[in-house]
Amino acid sequence: MEFLRPATWAEALAAKADLPEAAPIQGGTDMMVELNFDVHRPAALLDLNRVAELTRWTAEADGRLRIGAGVPYARLIAELGDRLPGLAQAARTVGSPQIRNRGTVGGNLGAASPAGDSHPALLAGDAVIEVESAARGVRMIPADEFYLGVKRNTLLPDELIRAFWMSPASGPQYFSKVGTRNAMVIAVCSFAIALHPGERRVGAAIGSAAPTPRRARAAEEFLAAELDWDAPLEPAVLRRFGELATEAASPIDDVRGTAGYRRHAIGVMARRTLTWAWNDLRAGRTERRAG
Ligand SMILES: Cc1cc2nc3c(=O)[nH]c(=O)nc-3n(C[C@H](O)[C@H](O)[C@H](O)COP(=O)(O)OP(=O)(O)OC[C@H]3O[C@@H](n4cnc5c(N)ncnc54)[C@H](O)[C@@H]3O)c2cc1C
Repeated sequence: MEFLRPATWAEALAAKADLPEAAPIQGGTDMMVELNFDVHRPAALLDLNRVAELTRWTAEADGRLRIGAGVPYARLIAELGDRLPGLAQAARTVGSPQIRNRGTVGGNLGAASPAGDSHPALLAGDAVIEVESAARGVRMIPADEFYLGVKRNTLLPDELIRAFWMSPASGPQYFSKVGTRNAMVIAVCSFAIALHPGERRVGAAIGSAAPTPRRARAAEEFLAAELDWDAPLEPAVLRRFGELATEAASPIDDVRGTAGYRRHAIGVMARRTLTWAWNDLRAGRTERRAG
């Protein structure tokens, strides 16, 4: 197998254009498992680890954060946990310390597993994915247009993920994940919420409960119309939000859980995370680590 080691982003794009079947590798925490189990035998590996800019993040002039595709989870938590609490919570649930030291959001996006933990937080937080090819330049793809199917995303063969963009949290954010144990576990299902009090809007998304991670749009629209931002949370509003979040799911039965259990758990997580976020908002807290 050919092993390509570009030193710059331009070289990486050129290599991908020359050999579109080359599989990028960043942390390798998905890719090496696939190689070891012979799930996948790409013609070449395109190692992105020498492309230093992929491991950097910047605060941009428009106020958003631009985070390189190769920033590992451990650094996201340590360096951006205050600004992206929902994504940091999701990152804390990924694998083990070793996996969080190597694994990246870029790799989670590349793998596009419906169970990937970063996806619901990216969706709820209105992330935009920056991808690029040598031939056509940059495409900025909203997260909810990025996932196409089980382990399929909208990347074209000559494109690479360069970065993702997110605004720092403007209100409380939470991520919740159900697994068969407390750590080192693939999500049975997951849920993320992001309150945007200034815009009187809530972002909500589900994971591992449909062929792709997806926004719970009807639930979001319901809250935009019905939530009284100056009052305690109405039990009827909470209940309906949970029902609509559940309706966003189209889960399957598999080894990790049944479709029925997943539907139930999505409703519970939706009500729970909204309650946590609402309590934080009312108490004047905009961020908090999940217990
Ligand atoms: C023990 C273990 C536990 C795990 N636990 C979890 C968990 O709890 N939650 C979870 O979500 N995941 C988990 N994973 C999966 C994995 O760690 C994550 O998906 C991680 O985000 C992958 O990142 P990476 O940088 O290692 O990706 P890599 O393995 O390097 O790449 C993954 C995929 O993305 C593609 N890719 C990488 N970078 C780019 C790029 N810049 N442009 C285009 N495509 C690219 C690769 O070609 C490949 O298809 C676990 C894996 C292991 C081995």
